[in-house]
Amino acid sequence: MISCSNRFLAGKIALLEAGPRKDYDHMPDSYSNRVSSISPGSATLLSSFGAWDHVCSLRLKPFRRMQVWDACSEAMIVFEKDDLDDMGYIVENDVIMSALTKQLDAVADRVEVFYGSRAVGYTWPLSSHRCDTSPWVQIELADGRRLQTKLLIGADGHNSLVRQKAEIKNIEHQYDQSAVVATLHLSEATDNNVAWQRFLPTGPIALLPLSDTASSLVWSTCHEHASELLAMDEESFVDSINSAFWSNVNHSDFIDTAGAMFRSAILLLTPAGTAVRQLPPSVAKADPESRAMFPLGMGHATEYVQHRVALIGDAAHRVHPLAGQGVNLGFGDIECLARHLSAAAFNGSDLGSLRHLLKFETERQRHNVSLIAAIDVLKRLYSTRLTPLVLLRTWGLQATNALPFVKVRLSL
Ligand SMILES: Cc1cc2nc3c(=O)[nH]c(=O)nc-3n(C[C@H](O)[C@H](O)[C@H](O)COP(=O)(O)OP(=O)(O)OC[C@H]3O[C@@H](n4cnc5c(N)ncnc54)[C@H](O)[C@@H]3O)c2cc1C
Repeated sequence: MISCSNRFLAGKIALLEAGPRKDYDHMPDSYSNRVSSISPGSATLLSSFGAWDHVCSLRLKPFRRMQVWDACSEAMIVFEKDDLDDMGYIVENDVIMSALTKQLDAVADRVEVFYGSRAVGYTWPLSSHRCDTSPWVQIELADGRRLQTKLLIGADGHNSLVRQKAEIKNIEHQYDQSAVVATLHLSEATDNNVAWQRFLPTGPIALLPLSDTASSLVWSTCHEHASELLAMDEESFVDSINSAFWSNVNHSDFIDTAGAMFRSAILLLTPAGTAVRQLPPSVAKADPESRAMFPLGMGHATEYVQHRVALIGDAAHRVHPLAGQGVNLGFGDIECLARHLSAAAFNGSDLGSLRHLLKFETERQRHNVSLIAAIDVLKRLYSTRLTPLVLLRTWGLQATNALPFVKVRLSL
């Protein structure tokens, strides 16, 4: 949660964090099981204030290709960049936090971080100051301290207290899936610069590169199966992962034939359009203790702003991890809000005024709503074995894969 005083760039910012300050000085050799796929746009934002250099000096794995395919058919889509460009970067969340903590330390004269400081209540000012005792937002902390601010930015995650207390409606839905994460070791070293995702009828399984020999697993599946995956011995766990990537048990002759005919027709029309299928690496072992599961859901706040309040990140929107977009959407919010607040500060305007906060809301909702809806539709479309829908998505994926201009738009 972030509060800003009047002069955004030169003024004081307080950052409230419920958790303690973590020691990132000694990063362990083993990879963390929590990683994110960071888009080039997010990397540019992190570069703009020096954090990306720290990320690069710690560790990250660029990927140049993404292969996504259906477990119920041969349909697949491939996104790739040439040798010079990266599609994105797999970065441990702890590495990002370490880089941000270093940068926060460097601007301690302007940004004060209050660790171990949980906000428990807010008093909102009225939009008209005439009958109001304070024109600012009052923040009450769990230890009894009180703060006040002209602008409160709710960056407090999908259960946002700021959103709840501001009585902003959240359209939300719990998925029937949990994500199982783990750090995996591959059977043999490769360039390992491909992000793999296969849509199983129970949910997508993704293998994200961490190094030439290690990858991170994000396997979204029904809650019962997720619990089983967590409880099973290492050999069975590794077998389940390999089989999820390799097995054709969900194929049917009808879909395979219809898909093959459609693919031949596409090849006649756009012989250069289709990409070559690559085989995913096989997994040899999983790091002990790296398995964990997280329940999944979607949510979208009907408003991102109110008088003196703005929501960013998961407080404003929560998505299924299948597109690897959650944290990237949040970074996009930050870039947009910072731009509008900088303009307001430059003009000497009140930072908490709805006038420029609404510009932020309009711009971000325009961007986020369609993406959030598309991710939700994808989740539902791929959670079925119904033949007409499997056929529809098979043809849709094959056609999209053959149309470079559509793929370029999807990979942005
Ligand atoms: C399995 C999984 C895989 C994912 N993979 C990806 C991926 O590859 N790419 C991607 O872009 N996204 C991914 N995501 C999504 C991404 O993790 C989230 O979108 C992102 O963490 C949201 O960040 P946030 O800062 O908005 O919220 P959070 O990470 O929830 O942070 C909220 C912060 O607010 C603090 N806080 C909360 N309440 C209070 C309070 N009352 N007072 C003070 N502090 C408070 C918390 O301590 C916390 O530090 C994944 C998610 C999951 C579950």
